[in-house]
Amino acid sequence: MSITPLMPVYPRCGVRPVRGEHCHLISEDGRRFLDFASGIAVNVLGHSHPGLIAAIQKQAETLMHVSNLYGSPQGEAVAQRLIDLTFADTAFFTNSGAEAVECAIKTARAYHQSAGNDHKFELITFNNAFHGRTMATISASSQDKMHKGFMPLLPGFKYVEFNDLEAAKAAIGPNTAGFMVEPIQGEGGIRIATDEFMQGLRALCDEHDLMLVLDEVQSGVGRAGTFYAYEQYGIEPDIMATAKGIGGGFPVGACLATEKAARGMVAGTHGSTYGGNPFAMAAVGAILDVVPDGEFLADVRAKGERIKARLEQFIGNYPDLFELVRGRGLFIGLKMKVEPRPFVAHMRDNHGLLTVSAGDNVVRVLPPLVIDDSHIDEFMEKLSAAAASYKIEETA
Ligand SMILES: *Cc1c(COP(=O)(O)O)cnc(C)c1O
Repeated sequence: MSITPLMPVYPRCGVRPVRGEHCHLISEDGRRFLDFASGIAVNVLGHSHPGLIAAIQKQAETLMHVSNLYGSPQGEAVAQRLIDLTFADTAFFTNSGAEAVECAIKTARAYHQSAGNDHKFELITFNNAFHGRTMATISASSQDKMHKGFMPLLPGFKYVEFNDLEAAKAAIGPNTAGFMVEPIQGEGGIRIATDEFMQGLRALCDEHDLMLVLDEVQSGVGRAGTFYAYEQYGIEPDIMATAKGIGGGFPVGACLATEKAARGMVAGTHGSTYGGNPFAMAAVGAILDVVPDGEFLADVRAKGERIKARLEQFIGNYPDLFELVRGRGLFIGLKMKVEPRPFVAHMRDNHGLLTVSAGDNVVRVLPPLVIDDSHIDEFMEKLSAAAASYKIEETA
């Protein structure tokens, strides 16, 4: 047999982490890495955070799982905290980001179809978006590389150019249910929606009775310097998917919605065996104890500005390698003039620095939100050493 025990869908690298210590990872072979990937924007409190560990340990001893057949004091408390912190009136808990997006898609369709508008099922989504790997969420993405081998796609998605409000407007038709958009595209390469675009989508939704669905699975939970990125646009969505950072490493997500948007999501329409179980709610509770705090978020923004300023100065030394720096908070992209993957591997294997590549030739810099200046210094030292020792021709 030549197939690997883990289905070989990931091109896994040689780093095999076995322990986490705050902002560092230790691998099986004893190497130590500065983790500026955070499990792809998940470990917002870094590794081995005492508050998160204590919450999970305590809940494991008390009650891990029952079922959504029973009342959930744990879920109600966490949902209420999210409601108080956001635009939402109600929450459905999931086990992943893709499931949160699935619920968001169903909620948007049900909004119209529960009112007798069965023809309103289409969501307009945007080029280079990433919404997950289930059939509905790959169908929602324009990226052919995610579709190949899995045809046919689920009908009901139309793709237009990101940040092109006129194209979004022109795409509205009799079947349109709404728009689904990442305010800052993560996998797409830290591409930031303009104020005009986000506010324009909101206005189009208001005008045509459409749902504005935000996918903040990556941009949310403090990553972009506010609890959710939408806050920076002066608008509110009708429906929003969140996950990744919301559990700090525990697999959990949520679909948040206004009361109006959730009008179709009545008893029997949706479900999840694990979704929102007491174990997951303990993890989310521990994250909410830290991240939504005003001072914590101001600090995330300040640290993001410091990293961006230092990166901007640094890239001037390597005009052949780097093009620009962009991002909000600690959701930062370093756009390269060359394919970023070999450079990400070089930083990892030769300089002990973990980052993540993304679309548009971008290296994503996604540190835990709890980094301090010593981590920023260590990051800049490792990055500088990596750039100095990098030979572009090696990668050809
Ligand atoms: C990661 C991600 C998802 C999918 O989340 P999973 O937990 O991997 O299912 C969906 N949308 C966005 C924007 C993401 O970054």
